[in-house]
Amino acid sequence: MPTTPVPHKPTKAEIAVEEAIERLRVAVVKSRSTPGVADEAAKAIEHLNQLYAKHKEAFTAEDIRFSNVLRGFLGERLAAHKPKTAHTKKAKRKGDKLDHCWRCQTPVDERFTTNCPKCSDKSYQWRVCPVCNACGCQRAGLVLI
Ligand SMILES: [Zn+2]
Ligand SMILES: [Zn+2]
Repeated sequence: MPTTPVPHKPTKAEIAVEEAIERLRVAVVKSRSTPGVADEAAKAIEHLNQLYAKHKEAFTAEDIRFSNVLRGFLGERLAAHKPKTAHTKKAKRKGDKLDHCWRCQTPVDERFTTNCPKCSDKSYQWRVCPVCNACGCQRAGLVLI
């Protein structure tokens, strides 16, 4: 007899993850027209990071990828509402693979002044992106977004 595949019944945590990502997605859509969504977006980000800290297993690789894409867009869109100012590009350091933020594509400029102690060590210092707050923590799975 052919066996019918049992559909995966989402766990409570998985449902919470989907809802939290949707909440961030909605905020990111709104961020295109208004910077007023920043607080709402910050709450959605905090909620997602809390869920990740507690229920890492409820996140698929796609959830993690998509959440980071959303977070990158949010940074870019909120920054676009601010008055445009000129920035000075910084030269690549030894070991830098990219000359821009891996998440929001912002070129590394004079605003990249903070190194993140959590994901940096002697071999490599990660700078924190001033636009979307990315560093190496997301890539190392220390934090979701
Ligand atoms: Zn960035
Ligand atoms: Zn970090």
